[in-house]
Amino acid sequence: MSPSSSSHPLVPYGWDADWEAAFAPYAGQGLVPGRVVRVDRGLCDVVTPGGTVRADTEFVVPRDPMKVVCTGDWAAVDPEGSDPRFVRTLLPRRTAFVRSASSKRSDGQILAANVDHAVVAVSLAVELDLGRVERFLALAWESGAQPVVVLSKADLVPDPVTLAHLVQDVETAAPGVPVLTVSALHGDGLDVLRALIGTGTAVLLGQSGAGKSTLANALVGADVMDVRAARDVDGKGRHTTTTRNLLPLTGGGVLIDTPGLRGVGLFDAEGGVGQVFAEIEELAARCRFHDCSHESEPGCAVVAAVDSGELSVRRLESYRKLVRENQWIVAKTDARLRAEIRKDWKRKGAEGRAAMQAKRGHWS
Ligand code: GDP
Ligand code: ZN
Repeated sequence: MSPSSSSHPLVPYGWDADWEAAFAPYAGQGLVPGRVVRVDRGLCDVVTPGGTVRADTEFVVPRDPMKVVCTGDWAAVDPEGSDPRFVRTLLPRRTAFVRSASSKRSDGQILAANVDHAVVAVSLAVELDLGRVERFLALAWESGAQPVVVLSKADLVPDPVTLAHLVQDVETAAPGVPVLTVSALHGDGLDVLRALIGTGTAVLLGQSGAGKSTLANALVGADVMDVRAARDVDGKGRHTTTTRNLLPLTGGGVLIDTPGLRGVGLFDAEGGVGQVFAEIEELAARCRFHDCSHESEPGCAVVAAVDSGELSVRRLESYRKLVRENQWIVAKTDARLRAEIRKDWKRKGAEGRAAMQAKRGHWS
């Protein structure tokens, strides 16, 4: 990044040399760059070098619901003095979080764009549910973001041996994903997390009560969420997001926190499922039949790995469940269109990640 751009007022919102390059043609047209904070009914809030402005999205209304303006998008908007100010174009997305079709709708819904790190918060106050962790990881991978698992409320597991075992359990469910322990209450582990997400844009995923609001407050360095006391002993809490959706972090990086992201459930995450269960996909490549269902076929490498204890039954069942769920969702939607969109994001996500890797050199 050039010295001039490192002092760019949008750096705290995720502006970097790649966005600058993508924006260059629009700068030549006298437009200003900005990042979308919030969208509602044809208007959006965009943070620009001159402050947050309200802009009309009329020129960027697509037919495709996957391409509508959303929080995290980078945009070229009219310069100060234009009235009204319009969003003229969106810069190509690096990544996108999508909510799959609900039972009534057959199209997806964009939840957040240009997310680099997906932090999956998992509470240590309740029994570990590895299947749930895998589900969130599938969503994270599918978006194109790099997942990180944060085992929250680590102060509730004071015994280091027990804590290490819990980390190990989660690691088996999360190949290729850093697993950290954090206590937002005591401040333990926050520096490691800050270092991991200090560049680019992060989101917090996880069940209600996992400690996302508390973690967000700690990372932002202010009480941005209303964290209410737990009502009971099961570690569940209630929260209300009271501020903006795009929050610069004290340690660098920016957090996207939207109500939509907090409620994510079922996803079209075929590619993501493959990455979560990378070792199963590797085994499957060695099955005698290429369309092996790993049930009772001869020469099945997956079943052999279960028999030898190399692969847990839990993990295989979790894999089957997510694959089935996913096929059901995909079947309901326009497969061709979705495949195209996915390919596009994958490419951009990979390019974005490669660029970030080159810059920072710490994901491998
Ligand atoms: P969210 O629903 O995921 O946003 O979770 P919250 O941040 O609202 O946290 C749920 C409950 O867990 C609240 O009662 C918090 O006070 C509690 N909590 C959050 N972080 C910690 C922690 O590090 N240690 C302990 N002991 N409790 C925590
Ligand atoms: Zn098999």
